[in-house]
Amino acid sequence: MAILLDRVVRFIEYPNPDARRAREAVMAATRATSCNIFRRFDPRGLTISLAHFSADFRADFPADFRADFRADLFSQFFGTSYDCDSMTVHPNDPLLPEAKMHIVLPGAPVLARIASSDSCIRGKSASFVRHIGIDLAGTPLEGTFLAGQSFGVVVPGVDSKGRPHKVRLYSIASPSYGEDGFGRVISTTCKRTIEEIPDENDPTRSDGHPLILGVCSNWLCDQSVGNKILVSGPNGKRFVLPANPSEHDYIFMATGTGIAPFRGMIHELLIGPPAGSPSHAQWKGPCQSKIHLVMGSPYRTDLLYDSWFRDLASAHPNFTYHTVISREPLSQPGHGPHTHHYVDARLDFFRPLLDSKRTLIYACGLAGMQVGIFKALAVAGLGGQYLTVHEEIAAVAPSEWTTEQIKRRVRPTHRCMLEVY
Ligand SMILES: Cc1cc2nc3c(=O)[nH]c(=O)nc-3n(C[C@H](O)[C@H](O)[C@H](O)COP(=O)(O)OP(=O)(O)OC[C@H]3O[C@@H](n4cnc5c(N)ncnc54)[C@H](O)[C@@H]3O)c2cc1C
Repeated sequence: MAILLDRVVRFIEYPNPDARRAREAVMAATRATSCNIFRRFDPRGLTISLAHFSADFRADFPADFRADFRADLFSQFFGTSYDCDSMTVHPNDPLLPEAKMHIVLPGAPVLARIASSDSCIRGKSASFVRHIGIDLAGTPLEGTFLAGQSFGVVVPGVDSKGRPHKVRLYSIASPSYGEDGFGRVISTTCKRTIEEIPDENDPTRSDGHPLILGVCSNWLCDQSVGNKILVSGPNGKRFVLPANPSEHDYIFMATGTGIAPFRGMIHELLIGPPAGSPSHAQWKGPCQSKIHLVMGSPYRTDLLYDSWFRDLASAHPNFTYHTVISREPLSQPGHGPHTHHYVDARLDFFRPLLDSKRTLIYACGLAGMQVGIFKALAVAGLGGQYLTVHEEIAAVAPSEWTTEQIKRRVRPTHRCMLEVY
């Protein structure tokens, strides 16, 4: 217990200058209550506890600490920020494996090597996305990642204000045993950030819409095989496959580079480690669970790893690969333009799966994609297992929920995992 509690405390300490006080408050609180709320030992555990602990304990946390906790810690480690005060633990929650975290901190990153860099885009596209392999051999990060976790990249040099560049997180696209079977080579799916930022005051000004090239994504995509890069991690411990994958069925929903973790997870579920690798002996063979991947992208050319997923779907009858194209004419009547519309339009097909106590939903990609998913689930009367709805909007029909209400008042349960950025 003490070790696990320490992890929670480490999470708290990391971004918070008032760490000693926070630590004492957590220690006092856990002495005063039964600690099963910490059973996952992730930062959400702590936030759940804020709802359950006495008012005295909550008062011990200064309001700005809690804001810090949410804004910094959640966005840093999960790429999203939650106000989890109303989150509860449900009986069919998956048992997650113990994930290693923060073995290398962004403040002291280690040198890894670019092992490969290949375009993921087929034909002409407005986006530039690369599948990048990173060799961690000889670093403390070797063999530490689970599929679904992310790692940090620290660009050398300083930003426009003269400060060292902040770390950027990237989901690993490789399975837990890496691209090589030994966990030495991880990979990611990196999209170059290229944006035109209009002048808010006068969008018509010809000199008021500079082109912004994201610092890290472009730097990373520019690197050649053999170049050294500074990395940290692992990050995130909730967006991972359950410890016993065959106990669950899966709906994976991705937009854009949100496909990265699903490449790793589905590799792990269906293909498994290569013969001769350390984890091969423990692998129980292809998972027989129902696995659905719903991949959304604006154009067909932006479907990442498309042929790999198609080949897998042909080889494994329990795996179905659904593609949803938002900016091309609808190919099949009834299919909407986004991933949740697709599921919505095919509710007869998905309902038994969503109704099942075995099913887990994983969604990864554009920030905001969860709004459509949450609403579609709730409107269909399927939210019960996947969502916790704050009492403030419990009496409002889900079809009337505003985006703001969903963002602030609807939380995923542990059966619905989100990684949005
Ligand atoms: C958990 C997690 C996993 C992730 N996984 C992936 C992944 O697998 N693949 C992937 O591609 N990305 C991923 N990301 C996103 C990634 O971390 C970066 O945010 C992304 O690559 C952009 O970083 P950048 O340095 O290129 O852009 P930045 O330089 O950080 O710019 C980001 C944005 O800031 C704004 N901005 C920057 N400069 C200016 C300026 N001068 N004026 C006005 N606005 C400006 C723009 O809106 C710009 O798009 C993930 C993020 C998280 C949190």
